[in-house]
Amino acid sequence: MAEFTMELNEDQRQVRDWIHGFAADVIRPAAAEWDEREETPWPVIQEAAKVGIYSLDFYAQQFFDPTGLGVPMAMEELFWGDAGIALSIVGTGLAAIGVLANGTEEQIGTWIPQMYGTPDDVKVAAFCSSEPDAGSDVGSMRTRAVYDQAKDEWVLNGTKTWATNGGIANVHIVVAVVDPGLGTKGHASFIVPPGTPGLSQGQKFKKHGIRASHTAEVVLEDVRVPGSCLLGGKEKLDERLARARETARAGGERVKNAAMATFEASRPAVGAMAVGTARAAYEVALDYAKTRTQFGRPIIDNQGVAFQLADMRTQIDAARLLVWRASWMAVAGRPFTAAEGSMSKLYASEVAKKVTAQAVQILGGNGYTREYPVERMHRDAAIYTIFEGTSEIQRLVIARTLSGMPIR
Ligand SMILES: Cc1cc2nc3c(=O)[nH]c(=O)nc-3n(C[C@H](O)[C@H](O)[C@H](O)COP(=O)(O)OP(=O)(O)OC[C@H]3O[C@@H](n4cnc5c(N)ncnc54)[C@H](O)[C@@H]3O)c2cc1C
Repeated sequence: MAEFTMELNEDQRQVRDWIHGFAADVIRPAAAEWDEREETPWPVIQEAAKVGIYSLDFYAQQFFDPTGLGVPMAMEELFWGDAGIALSIVGTGLAAIGVLANGTEEQIGTWIPQMYGTPDDVKVAAFCSSEPDAGSDVGSMRTRAVYDQAKDEWVLNGTKTWATNGGIANVHIVVAVVDPGLGTKGHASFIVPPGTPGLSQGQKFKKHGIRASHTAEVVLEDVRVPGSCLLGGKEKLDERLARARETARAGGERVKNAAMATFEASRPAVGAMAVGTARAAYEVALDYAKTRTQFGRPIIDNQGVAFQLADMRTQIDAARLLVWRASWMAVAGRPFTAAEGSMSKLYASEVAKKVTAQAVQILGGNGYTREYPVERMHRDAAIYTIFEGTSEIQRLVIARTLSGMPIR
């Protein structure tokens, strides 16, 4: 029988230390500058590409770690460095994983290399699902994809919003409605190749936090892509739509949306990002509390401060354990019977918001200025309870899973 251990193995420790080194030496020192500039930190992405952290190989290695801890470990360390820069580095991965999980071998081989480019000419990719009227309610999506059989082309029309790397990406992955009668089951994903006419960037958002990460609208006006750009291929889509129509006709039990299972597996990665930001702020606060003297003693000598730090550390460790459990469940193929993936994202993101706010408080006036990084970390942390499903949506998913109600 395999021995139970909660220790990382030697290989994992080495990878973690290597990523931590990059986060400490390259990402953290650049964080304040790119936050102020509110621009994509291309030179940092290039550095990451040169050392091998910005590449499909890197993510594939972490993704296929049999313990499931590769991805959360990498996310925690990169986001410990800085959330905005780290999102610029891993944002492409979100689009790439979509292709890796659902694409044909040919699509994977053709498009993923173009998402990353080369260390001398780095590129980024974007995953475009959200729309102005379809955020939490993905079923309200309006972007339409219509098949032009004569030309074997798909024609996309609509407006996407909040797309990380939207408009500056070399490759865009766009989710669109192919059968409006089937709700979310009538959606399909399309690869929009570089330079495709009709795709343009709309508004670029000026944000509260993660300001080094580019977020923008993507406008699609009669965007024509070849049939080969439908992710997974037409045959697979037709089979899936036929099954969904059959279920709808039978009026039977709603088939559990496969996308939901994917979300359960991907949400812990966002939880790990939140753990990284929370840990970074906690460390700054701990150091500060040990060295800042008031009333003749370090402020950590006051129980009011020390207890806050004790709670912060306890909650960060608890969040990491939830993230690791869900990540292990995903690779072990365990069913998420209590929506453990959503649970980990919900808890870790709420912890990050709370812990970074406490860190600002512990640093007093200094915490409120840009001279210290906790001010930025607090702004950055607010994203975790919003993207990849808000905290309310995570609670909804958990509650419906527990009660056995259909999720959507
Ligand atoms: C910086 C950033 C980057 C992003 N990157 C991407 C990306 O790369 N690709 C992409 O497709 N999307 C991306 N998003 C979009 C993100 O996933 C959405 O913002 C998120 O899903 C919430 O949608 P919404 O903003 O429309 O809010 P809404 O859905 O309008 O929600 C507003 C509020 O109502 C609450 N609410 C909604 N429905 C319910 C309910 N049934 N019960 C209780 N409360 C509810 C929500 O929790 C929230 O508090 C990004 C967003 C941001 C801010």
